[in-house]
Parts: sequence; C-alpha cells; structure tokens
Amino acid sequence: MKNKLQQLCDSYQMEFMTDVPLDGHTTFHIGGNADYWIEVNSVQGLSAALRFCCENHLPYFVMGRGSNILASDNGFQGVILHIGNAFSSITADGDTLTCQAGASLTAAATFASRKQLSGMEALSGIPGTVGGALFMNAGAYQHEMKDIVTSCTYLDSTGTEHILTQEKLNLSYRHSFFTEHPDCIITSVTMHLQKDNPEEILSRMKEYSRRRKEKQPLEYPSAGSTFKRPEGSYASKLIDECGLKGYQVGDAQVSEKHAGFVINRNHATCEQVLRLCRDVHDKVLAETGYILELEPVLLGFQEGEISCS
Ligand SMILES: Cc1cc2nc3c(=O)[nH]c(=O)nc-3n(C[C@H](O)[C@H](O)[C@H](O)COP(=O)(O)OP(=O)(O)OC[C@H]3O[C@@H](n4cnc5c(N)ncnc54)[C@H](O)[C@@H]3O)c2cc1C
Repeated sequence: MKNKLQQLCDSYQMEFMTDVPLDGHTTFHIGGNADYWIEVNSVQGLSAALRFCCENHLPYFVMGRGSNILASDNGFQGVILHIGNAFSSITADGDTLTCQAGASLTAAATFASRKQLSGMEALSGIPGTVGGALFMNAGAYQHEMKDIVTSCTYLDSTGTEHILTQEKLNLSYRHSFFTEHPDCIITSVTMHLQKDNPEEILSRMKEYSRRRKEKQPLEYPSAGSTFKRPEGSYASKLIDECGLKGYQVGDAQVSEKHAGFVINRNHATCEQVLRLCRDVHDKVLAETGYILELEPVLLGFQEGEISCS
C-alpha cells in the first residue's frame, strides 16, 4: 500500500508521508499517528487519491488546519488528505472572492480587505481553512459562512467534481450538506462580499481580534468551543453555573478564562479530554436539564472515517 501511494503522489507531485503524529497537526496538540498523509496540491491529485482509496477500501479523512478535531490517542489507520497551504490560492473578481479550500480564513479576509471587500471581518480570527469553515458553517459575532457563500465545488468519494449553490448547501448552525456527506471534499468556495473602505475593514478585523484575545484562552492549545450551543442557552454559561471552570482530568481542563473551552494544559490525551467532557455533560444535564453535544469532529473512532468498502 505504502509503495503504491508513494507512486501515485509522485505522479501528481504531492508530498507523501507515513506515520505522521496528529498532535503536530491539530490545534489541540492531541492525537497518535496517522498511517499515511497526502499533501493535496491539485484537484486532479485529490481526485486520483480518492479513486485510489475507493478502489483499495482504504479509509480516508480530510483535514484542514485541524482546529476543530479531537484525534484519538491511537491515531488513524488510513490516509489523511491534507487540504492546506499547497492548495490555497485566492482570487477576486469585482465583489466575488474565490478561494481554494486550503486557504486560511485569515488570509482570505486579509486578501479581501486589500481588494476593499467587506464581509469576512468577524470570521477572520477563526483559525481554520475556508473549506473547514464551510464544512460546519463556522461563525462568530453573529456572522457566519452562510451570510457570504454563494457556491462551492467539491469531489465525491469517487473523485468526481460537482458544484453546489447556496440553496443546496443546507447551511445552519454548525451544519451543512457536508456534515451530512462527510465523504465529500470541498475544493473551492465562492463568496459574495461588499465594497467598503479598506481602513474601516481592517479596523473591524482588529476589533474582533482584540475581543478574541480578551475572552478566549488563546495561550493554550484547544479546539475552540468544545460544546455546541444548546437551543435556549450557551454552553459556557451552563458550565460556569455548574461550577466547572478549572475542572481538570489529567492535563485536560475547563478553561478558567472561558468555560466553553477545554484546554490542553500540557500533555493532555484524547482519553482525558473525553472523560472530562463526559463529566461536564453529566453534571450540566443533572443540574440544568440541558444536553451538551461535542463540537469538534472525532478522528480515529470509526465515526467520521470514510471508506468506500
Ligand atoms: C482558538 C480557536 C477559536 C475558534 N473559534 C471559532 C469560532 O469563533 N467560530 C467557529 O465556528 N469555530 C471556531 N473554532 C473552530 C474551528 O476553527 C472551525 O471549526 C474551523 O472552521 C475548522 O477549520 P479547519 O480547516 O481547521 O478544519 P479541520 O479542523 O481540519 O476539520 C474540521 C472538519 O471539517 C472537515 N473538513 C475540513 N476541510 C474540509 C474540506 N476541504 N472538505 C470537506 N470537509 C472538510 C474535516 O473533515 C472535519 O470533519 C475555533 C477553534 C480554535 C482552536
């Protein structure tokens, strides 16, 4: 398998690695090794890799910046298709911005501001890729991907390309067509933005960034908000009211700065994070009646792993 994958990557000039530690590729700094890692650099290369996985019944998982992933301590027995810097071009045409899926939200927002285009300021501090952001309709400060995305292109598990327009994307809170079809891979995203004064755009971006630094424990590794917002309340408020700020299992801790974040204080394991989340879930349910659901995607637990077999 290894030699065949190496050959495939060589023919598309994609970087190929084996036994890649996932703790170096997730913002939580948690996770065992992935058997195989492909650095995607083109639609053709990605399509060929998907066909290979399909034909060989090899599980695959697409990863952007790893900022919404909790990876198993046992790693991942399959191929990580990494959509990152090698697949991250950004272009503007009038008030339309088109990004390859690996472009970072921050880079896209900065590029947009230089073109005097507004609409991404509130999203600019989210530490993920444009593809990862569309996957789960990322949002902040009452703005979300849904407000600006007009269409995207994606490959299905056989490597065939499709286009989806906004109506078919089914975007809602942390949900999209792609959360329903995790075997599909977003390759590019097109957004409609508004012309505005570049200095005002930059000043709004700075203000959102200041608010993030003030409220969020950015000095520690995490995957951002650990629980989704339950209808009718906020996870951080419920966790705080249950007296769980600072609660710790091993090196995993409910942040004292922001109760919605579980942080990795040093060498937390995935198992510790999951134990802590279970305790938080149980206490919040017992004391408030609200059910908290994990927001990060689990990797290496069968769920979320795609295979054509
Ligand atoms: C400090 C911090 C603050 C955060 N703040 C916010 C916030 O304010 N709002 C918010 O919404 N989120 C926030 N997040 C979470 C995270 O940054 C977002 O969910 C982000 O959009 C994930 O993008 P990613 O590229 O890192 O995706 P990854 O974490 O790599 O992947 C997440 C999921 O998306 C899928 N995916 C990734 N790329 C693609 C693709 N090209 N095609 C198909 N599926 C894909 C993966 O398979 C996985 O299921 C925060 C995280 C951190 C660490």
